[in-house]
Amino acid sequence: MKEVILIKNGELALKGLNRRTFEDILIKNMRHRLEKIGRFDFRTAQSTIVAIPADDDADLTQAAEIIRTVFGIAGFSRALAVEKDFQTILKQTEEYLRFDLMAASTFKVEAKRSDKKFPLNSPEICREAGGYLLNKFPNLSVDVHNPDVTVNIEIRDDAAYIHGKQIKGAGGMPVGSAGKACLLISGGIDSPVSGYMMAKRGLELTAVHFASPPYTSEKAEQKVHRLLGKVSKYSGRIGLWVVPFTEIQEKIKDECPEDIFTVIMRRMMMRTAQIIAAREKAGALITGESVGQVASQTMPAIACTEAVCNIPVFRPLIGMDKDEVIEISRKIDTFDISILPYEDCCTVFTPKHPRTRPTLDYVEKAEEAFDWKPMVEVAAAEARFVLIDN
Ligand code: ATP
Ligand code: MG
Repeated sequence: MKEVILIKNGELALKGLNRRTFEDILIKNMRHRLEKIGRFDFRTAQSTIVAIPADDDADLTQAAEIIRTVFGIAGFSRALAVEKDFQTILKQTEEYLRFDLMAASTFKVEAKRSDKKFPLNSPEICREAGGYLLNKFPNLSVDVHNPDVTVNIEIRDDAAYIHGKQIKGAGGMPVGSAGKACLLISGGIDSPVSGYMMAKRGLELTAVHFASPPYTSEKAEQKVHRLLGKVSKYSGRIGLWVVPFTEIQEKIKDECPEDIFTVIMRRMMMRTAQIIAAREKAGALITGESVGQVASQTMPAIACTEAVCNIPVFRPLIGMDKDEVIEISRKIDTFDISILPYEDCCTVFTPKHPRTRPTLDYVEKAEEAFDWKPMVEVAAAEARFVLIDN
């Protein structure tokens, strides 16, 4: 008899031949994330993964908290694994779910039998266990449509599992199952949310942050570390590259028209990020852009930025309102960090009258004013690495 966690994988179930690989990635992710509270063994059977604590004193409440943040899981429940003897099952159900059953007024039993050798079939298990529990808990009556408590009894090959309510998982796909992408992270509200959203779709993250000391402070960089720390609770560890961006920014300011300063800067960011992405074997960039949010995110401005990219740019917030983004940032606990006041490299040189409809021609001409290529290469080469692991 042992308490375990039963995990139902989400979209995974749909993936046919890839399913095995996806399950392996999911298990690897869970193992890594649970490492700090103890060792777990994993067993897979019939679209369920069973997480079994290897040490008896493992804290399953903590484990459940962690599992709630792992992508690729539709739902999970704590369960008691018991010997496949019906009297034992009844007795253990009564004990294990006593607290819930005492507090409820209605219940139902659901049974699943994948071990066909078990002497009772599913309807019989429901009927017998229902009768037994009605007898033990006079406060209860049966409601099959909308019960306060659902008692689940699953007869599997290795054991019988008893559990109450299923907890909703984080959804999405296991991180790493869709490859790796490079997140451009500022200290703002949007980019951490973008990283979270793409990790949810199965992307492993690496990150790039452009810092412009002395215009931006050490504190601004610390803020990025803290933001990524929160994102890494969901995405797993993130390798961050901090790029020295001061010289490029000063050069743009000195040599280019002020009204397209931001667009040119964004193009330089994309170029640098692509060098780092190639080095990191990341197949796409991720930004926190949203149409119309600021002058550099109008459609013509985004077109100018996009023109220098030769890998896909994922912009998961592109059609979202700020308040929708804020709602997610509160959920993942990045909002309060994002609104700390430290200067970002974008705000330092913000033009007074940015052009909202730049043309590619105008921007490309303006860029010819200085030899940016070696500067971008040096910036990428001199980027400093910081490993963010929650
Ligand atoms: P955020 O709230 O994420 O800062 P924003 O609305 O302020 O976004 P911009 O400052 O125009 O928008 O930046 C657009 C996107 O460019 C950001 O979401 C981010 O992906 C990237 N970006 C901006 N500044 C930096 C930076 N200093 N380092 C890395 N990426 C950046
Ligand atoms: Mg910003």
